[in-house]
Amino acid sequence: MEKNQMFCYQCQETANGFGCTISGVCGKNAKTAALQDELTCEMISLAAVMQVKKTRLESEDNVNALELIDLIVEGLYSCVTNVNFDGDEIKNMITEIKEKREKLGGRELTAQKDIFLDSSCDLLLKNEDVHSLRSTFLFGMRGMAAFAHHARILRKREIDVDFWFIKGMAALSSEYSIDEWLDLLAELGIVNFKCLKMLDAANTDAFGNPEPAKVSLKIEKGSFIVVSGHDLRDIKLLLEQTEEKGVNVYTHGEMLPAHAYPGIKKYRHLKGHFGTAWQNQQAEFTNIPAPVLFTANCLMPPKKNYSDNIYTTSVVRFPGLKHIESFSNNKKDFTPLIEHAIKLGGYDFDIHQTGMNGGSLMTTGYGRKAIIDNITLITNAVKAGEIKHIFLIGGCDGARYERRYFTEFVKQTPNDTIVLILACGKFRFNDIDAGLIRSCPRILDMGQCNDAYGAVAAAVALAVNLDCFVNELPLTIILSWYEQKAVSVLLTLLSLGLKNIYIGPSVPAFFSKTVMDILTEKYEIKLISTPEDDLERIFKK
Ligand code: SF4
Repeated sequence: MEKNQMFCYQCQETANGFGCTISGVCGKNAKTAALQDELTCEMISLAAVMQVKKTRLESEDNVNALELIDLIVEGLYSCVTNVNFDGDEIKNMITEIKEKREKLGGRELTAQKDIFLDSSCDLLLKNEDVHSLRSTFLFGMRGMAAFAHHARILRKREIDVDFWFIKGMAALSSEYSIDEWLDLLAELGIVNFKCLKMLDAANTDAFGNPEPAKVSLKIEKGSFIVVSGHDLRDIKLLLEQTEEKGVNVYTHGEMLPAHAYPGIKKYRHLKGHFGTAWQNQQAEFTNIPAPVLFTANCLMPPKKNYSDNIYTTSVVRFPGLKHIESFSNNKKDFTPLIEHAIKLGGYDFDIHQTGMNGGSLMTTGYGRKAIIDNITLITNAVKAGEIKHIFLIGGCDGARYERRYFTEFVKQTPNDTIVLILACGKFRFNDIDAGLIRSCPRILDMGQCNDAYGAVAAAVALAVNLDCFVNELPLTIILSWYEQKAVSVLLTLLSLGLKNIYIGPSVPAFFSKTVMDILTEKYEIKLISTPEDDLERIFKK
């Protein structure tokens, strides 16, 4: 096979459903992809050394294990799709990790380079099933790192989650059988559940429990800033720094649920939501008279007609974009962004945007607590036959045409069903007014992908109230996957024993046929087909 320039198949939009081999569909170039592979190898080497030396880490080597774990978490998150496109920054991370490993007296694990730096795909074709499981494991680790990173920004960490990053990355340096990889994937799923629970506690301790909120899509005239990504602390800091400055703040993408948190929504200049789905940003940010701050994924390579207005922070980087650094006291100075907003001045008159279905409002805030507060109402409605089924549609959005499935599916759900929605896939249908059952809206937004713990907690609460197991609930989970956080959430759901999950819009390219067959047999996992056929399958059960 001709040598490819790169090989990456970690997301749903990978080229031809096989792998990006020349450049990434996401905009990642071959050089950055190679550096991310090298970074991955270095993190594996470091973790393997740390595992061997774990008893001496703090005492003898004068190296703080938690700092090294932080480096690994940041490195893993930097390799998630649409996060860090900046090769120079990744080179810096490689250098730092190499230095730390050498300080520990550890050697580079060259065997891993054969696995992770091989861009010819020969390895993949030679040992497809093991490569598939190993890749799934790595991508699940990357997803979990994103959740852990958000929690540490709010000063939440748990030692068993932390140390599992060493175990998990070191595991990638070893050879295992298919069954052993499956066991490791199940363990990763459980640790990721702890990590999600920790993140839920981090967000709710810092900002309170989300409360139902209606969010306007109107952009008021005057200066404003748009905040994208998942990092709630960043939007809170920015709201503090923009108070009384005559600059309004709008959420974008996965930041929508910020409107539900008491500690964030109290700022009167947090006005509403800008734009629709993340994949529409290149069109929607064109000539925008305001700066945009990306606090986490999903950043697309910016077009020239708005790139000067884009700021990144935290792990998000793109060559040439302005970056807001974090100080050692965990604070940030958003002055350049605020001054930029004032200079641009915003729109001269109010702009009335709509969602993807023409709606002018989005609702959010039906997180774990709001659902549990309404659990008696929901349970009684289920018992009375007023709610026949519950759908949980969670996961990411993307540009692919076949994702129209999710909009159509929601539109076709019968009036005696409710639809819990989670993560950014919701922008395809979260402006639809689907009515109420009793006083409960039929479509309930449970928050970001970061709030997946809340969805599991709500399902468990419902099962307890209906006196059944979760798998016996009139509940169907439909996972619209795009990037690696969805992979880690899928592993969690499977490791908790949940069955009959539908995934789409396609089978991950890194699932070999054998792996997909195993998941189908063991967990009855299903690929979506058409909304009509899937609704029929679900109601026939
Ligand atoms: S992240 Fe996705 S689109 Fe980007 S290079 Fe990898 S597989 Fe391709």
